[in-house]
Amino acid sequence: MTIEYQVRLDRDACDGIFACLVRDDRFTEASDGLATIDTDGSANGDDELTARFADDRIEDARQAARACPVGAIDVTAVDNE
Ligand code: SF4
Repeated sequence: MTIEYQVRLDRDACDGIFACLVRDDRFTEASDGLATIDTDGSANGDDELTARFADDRIEDARQAARACPVGAIDVTAVDNE
């Protein structure tokens, strides 16, 4: 089922442990050794990233968020009403 949702990554909190990468491949390692969100093949290195998706992969993102030991990932479903 397609759900619209927002994924926020706090790169200040990220510790480069990469538990997220194996759970959701949209998280990738940036050149600074921290995680980033690769939304369209062009990962960037801002301190706080927010990406919006509309697909059936919200559970992948939630698993990545749950796996992050420092709580750097937030996943929020977007209410369009
Ligand atoms: S699991 Fe959390 S701390 Fe580890 S790389 Fe991913 S966002 Fe960073």
